[in-house]
Amino acid sequence: MSVSAGLIGVAMPTTGSDRWIADGENMKKQFELLGYQTDVQFAEDKVDDQIAQIQAMVDGGAKAVIVGAVDGSALTGVLAKAAAADVEVIAYDRLIRDTPDIDYYASFDNFRVGVLQADYLVKTLKLTKAGGPYNLELFAGDAKDNNAGFFFDGAMSVLQPYISSGKLEIRSGQTAFAKVTTEGWNGEVAGERMTSLLNSDYAGTDVDAVLSPYDGISRGIIASLQKKGYGTRNKPLPVITGQDAELDSVKAIADGTQGQTVYKDSRELAKVAVQMTDSLLSGGTPEVNDTKQYNNGVKDVASFLLQPVSVDKDNYESVLVDGGYYTADQIGN
Ligand code: BGC
Repeated sequence: MSVSAGLIGVAMPTTGSDRWIADGENMKKQFELLGYQTDVQFAEDKVDDQIAQIQAMVDGGAKAVIVGAVDGSALTGVLAKAAAADVEVIAYDRLIRDTPDIDYYASFDNFRVGVLQADYLVKTLKLTKAGGPYNLELFAGDAKDNNAGFFFDGAMSVLQPYISSGKLEIRSGQTAFAKVTTEGWNGEVAGERMTSLLNSDYAGTDVDAVLSPYDGISRGIIASLQKKGYGTRNKPLPVITGQDAELDSVKAIADGTQGQTVYKDSRELAKVAVQMTDSLLSGGTPEVNDTKQYNNGVKDVASFLLQPVSVDKDNYESVLVDGGYYTADQIGN
């Protein structure tokens, strides 16, 4: 039997969303094919648990840790310990902030995710033509996640001109990132905010569009809208975006309940992170394609960014079924 190439710690944020489970499994599979052992942990969105998991990986002799951070600014201390033990650290999907002790960042073009979501709203509402004015409400992700601001800024770079010209009206007046974030990326929390917006700002009128950053949040918002009578012929659901191409949301896209999602192939991201790690541990230099976009407050972090893909009813079969991400049976039509 061959000797193990070493232990790799994989610290993922939660099992509460399919993508992170797939990310963990994909990395485990790929590392093991290269002869590494893995320790894959999920922190269930608890910051202290994630710190303890990373510490245990370092103590257990891991040569590298791959981290999808729960709180991008809370890992400074534990990563200093990792660095002292010569453990390579790769930020996975979410940038880790306020530390010199990360080596590389593997992610998607997160600003572009937001641009794709907003582009879908603009296209569907025909805002470049005669469309509007329409009522829009904005939702963002968890403020502790560095990606949340990138998604929001990307979306606002497209939406702001239409808001300024009055083609899009935000009746709640809640346009600042800090006002629209969603603790823990939690769909129920977002649904509660949607309900309270409907109660306070939509008594005599309907909401036409919702910027949602993530499928789980989209489904929470849709459930809230349905409870308030949306989703009928006289009161259609607003156009709503999403992210991650989660199965339940792809089904909702197929049946017309959710408008769009942003697909990010976690198999590809896992491949990038595994190659980066293997290259570092073999004394090589990992391939990167961006060195400017991601400053973590201490340094510019060399990154490899993959491209996200907008998916709606027109292309979900070609992208997701033909691409082998889901079978037609899973989606159910
Ligand atoms: C990821 C998204 C995901 C979100 C919630 C973000 O950091 O980039 O893919 O939807 O976290 O899990």
